[in-house]
Amino acid sequence: MNTEIYVTRAALPAMEEYIEEIRSLFSTHRITNMGEKYHRLTLAIGKVLNIDNPILLSNGHMSLELSLQALQMKGEVITTPFTFASTTHAIVRNGLTPVFCDIREDNYTMDADRIEELITDRTCAILPVHVYGNVCDVEKIEAVAQKHDLKVIYDAAHSFGVSYKGKGIGNYGDASIFSFHATKVFTSIEGGAVAVRDRKLGQAIKYLSNFGITGEDDIAAPGTNAKMNEFEAAMGLCNLRHFEENRRARAQVWMQYQDMLSGIPGIVLPTVPEDTVYNFAYFPIRVIETRYGENRDELAVRMRQESIYPRRYFYPLTSDYRCYRDKYDSGCTPIARRTAREILTLPLYPGLEREQVERICTIIKKRKK
Ligand SMILES: *Cc1c(COP(=O)(O)O)cnc(C)c1O
Repeated sequence: MNTEIYVTRAALPAMEEYIEEIRSLFSTHRITNMGEKYHRLTLAIGKVLNIDNPILLSNGHMSLELSLQALQMKGEVITTPFTFASTTHAIVRNGLTPVFCDIREDNYTMDADRIEELITDRTCAILPVHVYGNVCDVEKIEAVAQKHDLKVIYDAAHSFGVSYKGKGIGNYGDASIFSFHATKVFTSIEGGAVAVRDRKLGQAIKYLSNFGITGEDDIAAPGTNAKMNEFEAAMGLCNLRHFEENRRARAQVWMQYQDMLSGIPGIVLPTVPEDTVYNFAYFPIRVIETRYGENRDELAVRMRQESIYPRRYFYPLTSDYRCYRDKYDSGCTPIARRTAREILTLPLYPGLEREQVERICTIIKKRKK
């Protein structure tokens, strides 16, 4: 029986390293509400991501939800349906209306050439996703946003450690949010961060994450609880020490896939984006049924039979969710629709061994045709 291989595996430090990091918490008893670990991690994340004032929160989703709340917007938000549930939920949970824009065929990010045709007098913001760590067309998006006076909030949940043209990815747009969930390239168990252009916006998000409390007897907004606790921050501090080493290990697996899978008819491989320091977060392939001889789901079934569990990131489109499909105009997003049908994300994490990558690639090469 072959060992099971999942799409990802949470990065963990040596147990002793984590124990050393949390030791002081047992004498201070200060285990949450912006303690010592939280402040140290905030500084360290700022350095690694090359951003000025990161705000660390309980998870990526709350980072997104609170960014939208702090911007106090009304109306429509142009976004992508080719993403995780969180992106669209954050819009809807703020009383805003998602308007779905199609994606680019080459890197699956929002097609910036299709944004303007979706703008109405109710549009307040653009919410693109740097999906798989691929950088959106930030220049074009910025230009459209300036012309129409719109806010830009990037879902950078996949983009920890990514830089574009020498700048940390969090420096683009009015706000960018990161996820430190266990499945992401950098993890604090659960956790997230917001990078903002305007310090006041950052302060507003911080207050909202702690019930809107601005002073001992002053509550300024109907906030929520989205604080990162000290055990999570400690995990973040440990994992951050190994981030570059993990990035290199990911790059190695990524290149092994490239080598072993190149030239298979009907299998479209991802490419390393230009001008980008990449994080090798995912290895999404597209399965073109007419050329490969099998569709994506048939390939996934064959892999599962061999105890390999790739994921259909992202299927279905969020605009096709039962809670949304009859409610919002799912618009015209033919490329997103086709991609959702063809995409398969292969296992990728530091520690995935060469033999395991070979086992996965052998199954993909053995197509029916
Ligand atoms: C993981 C993810 C989120 C949410 O992050 P959490 O930390 O799990 O709340 C948001 N958007 C995208 C695209 C994600 O993949």
